[in-house]
Amino acid sequence: MSGACDIIDKSTYQVISRRKFEALDGTALKCLFDRKYLFQNQKKFQKEVALIDEVLASKKVVPNFLIIPTYRCNLSCGYCFEAAYKITENMSSNIEWIEQCLNSIDEIVTQSKKDFDFNDKDVYITLMGGEPLLAQNYEQVSEIMNQITNHGYSFNVITNGTDLDVYLDELIRFECQSIQITLDGSKEIHDNRRIYKNGNGSYEKIFQNIELALSRNLKIYLRVNLDKDNLVDLPNLAKELLDYFGENDNLVPYVYPMQDGGCLGDGGIIDEIVCIEEIQLLNEKHPQMALFDKKFHASSFMDTVFQNQQFEMKFRNCSATNNQYIFDYKGNIYKCWFGIGNANFKIGTYGKALSLNRQQDALWKNRNIKTLTKCQSCKYRYICGGGCLSHVMTSADDAKKERCIDFYQIIKAQLKGRLAK
Ligand code: SF4
Ligand code: SF4
Repeated sequence: MSGACDIIDKSTYQVISRRKFEALDGTALKCLFDRKYLFQNQKKFQKEVALIDEVLASKKVVPNFLIIPTYRCNLSCGYCFEAAYKITENMSSNIEWIEQCLNSIDEIVTQSKKDFDFNDKDVYITLMGGEPLLAQNYEQVSEIMNQITNHGYSFNVITNGTDLDVYLDELIRFECQSIQITLDGSKEIHDNRRIYKNGNGSYEKIFQNIELALSRNLKIYLRVNLDKDNLVDLPNLAKELLDYFGENDNLVPYVYPMQDGGCLGDGGIIDEIVCIEEIQLLNEKHPQMALFDKKFHASSFMDTVFQNQQFEMKFRNCSATNNQYIFDYKGNIYKCWFGIGNANFKIGTYGKALSLNRQQDALWKNRNIKTLTKCQSCKYRYICGGGCLSHVMTSADDAKKERCIDFYQIIKAQLKGRLAK
């Protein structure tokens, strides 16, 4: 609950797990009270929880934005969620929307500043798509970067990396903070899945572009979405990355198991606990696996325990339920990337004026561990934040319903791997 963690001897553990607290000596008992593992009664415990909730609820979050300059992509990945929505349009040559989009962002920023002050540079705008860095859209996308900088904001990009070379000068000129590129696996796997319209693989081009970007000091987060088909291939990918780039602080590869739905659809989804266990086996056999950061549920909480970092308690699940807005080039505004192009997820429009549906906006903003009934008494609440609203909405559940993850088993599985090190 509080992020505190202590090592106890076996006999103390047995006493505590049997709840025979009276059998503990005074020092041990005092420690349990002081470290807030134990409370005199339920009322005192509830008071502590209410206090933490109050602090977390009052925490202000700088708004962040995503801009989608196009839904078109130059690759034809079989699993693309945007293909599922059948949106393949490109932006028009009329770029009036860019100015309108930035003006609407200004309006939300100004509104937020009435609540608390922050620097414009702390407002992050992410360019994503479709493929946001299509060579054919160079003029318009450069103009977006130009306007973001003129308005004083920071930006980063999520791209497939294939046309990155075309944009390098602009990314440096406008001080892009980071680039996220997705790889699906080693050359063989990747070229089978992330293909151009003509069927050719994109691996070579992406590797060349990463090398160019690194040579110009750009920071790259390399994401590998894990599913049943590419998991065992990870050691091959790690070797290829090390052979090609060596160790480079500006290149951060990480793995992330695909959850139900999402970009890959449901087909290749791997159970998170199975994924954690299989990765641990790969770690034992292949030292190069250390190259990958591993992102699982509760892994940042586990880091706080094992790396003695500050426990960042969650009040909400994700940026969509915090202060995030997604603008597409067609004048639509959404909260969550998973729902872009989907009318149910739309919370407003922009054009000559900004128009937010306050009720829809509030549905996302008001979702937290205090408003969700089951979360109020859940011991994982500060690790979880109430679960993913998009998945609740797409499963036609009541939007005010929590979405639980099996934190007990997930933490246990990760603990095993971390203790084995
Ligand atoms: S609502 Fe769900 S899919 Fe959307 S950003 Fe949050 S966790 Fe991700
Ligand atoms: S695990 Fe379930 S009950 Fe617990 S905080 Fe998360 S969504 Fe709420």
